[in-house]
Amino acid sequence: MAVGVFGGTFDPVHMGHLVLAETAADELGLDRVVFMPAGNPYLKAGTEVSAAEHRMAMVKAAIESNPRFEASTIELEDPGPSYTIESLGRLRTELPDDEQVYLLLGVDSVLEMPRWRCPEGIFDRAQVIAYPRGRMMDSVCQDFVSVLGRKAPVLEGPLLGISGTDIRRRVSRGQSVRYLVPDRVAEYIRRNRLYSSGAPKLPA
Ligand code: ATP
Repeated sequence: MAVGVFGGTFDPVHMGHLVLAETAADELGLDRVVFMPAGNPYLKAGTEVSAAEHRMAMVKAAIESNPRFEASTIELEDPGPSYTIESLGRLRTELPDDEQVYLLLGVDSVLEMPRWRCPEGIFDRAQVIAYPRGRMMDSVCQDFVSVLGRKAPVLEGPLLGISGTDIRRRVSRGQSVRYLVPDRVAEYIRRNRLYSSGAPKLPA
């Protein structure tokens, strides 16, 4: 058995995330991909992140139709910041010993790993897998990203210039986000008036 672990703020979850997860499931032969919304993303301190209830509700709406996709509340259970090394440790205790764990990350996130808590430990607990994103840098070649003296293989998949930042900006300007997020996520954003002034704090 093999599981893909896919963390993020998911504010909101978008087509870039879904294509990454589906590509990983196919290419790596994963039985499931666990989406793990971050509770209080410490590296995004200073930027306003939507309430975890909203982000989780959007993830659930986005993945509902895919039997290989699941959502985990593991990073939402504690009020403090979430650290991938700790989340992987907690997930590991819930999995059979022989289940292979793949940590799925965009190339940009792999390159940020030196700033994370105990990044070497992350490589020991999971096989780190990168998905192409953004401008490819020197440390990134077609096949792998080099970081901390380790190599993360790069999946083959379409380069998708979609980001949560751009989606939030579009919504705040009254522009459409259709085809950038699943219809159900667009509907959730609209109904809860997310990313525009006067957004209710609690899910509608
Ligand atoms: P924001 O713009 O708010 O920073 P984001 O779009 O980068 O958000 P996150 O939830 O922070 O989304 O990302 C979760 C993970 O998904 C990260 O590993 C990130 O690299 C990856 N990811 C997000 N969007 C894409 C994309 N379009 N292509 C490839 N990977 C992506």
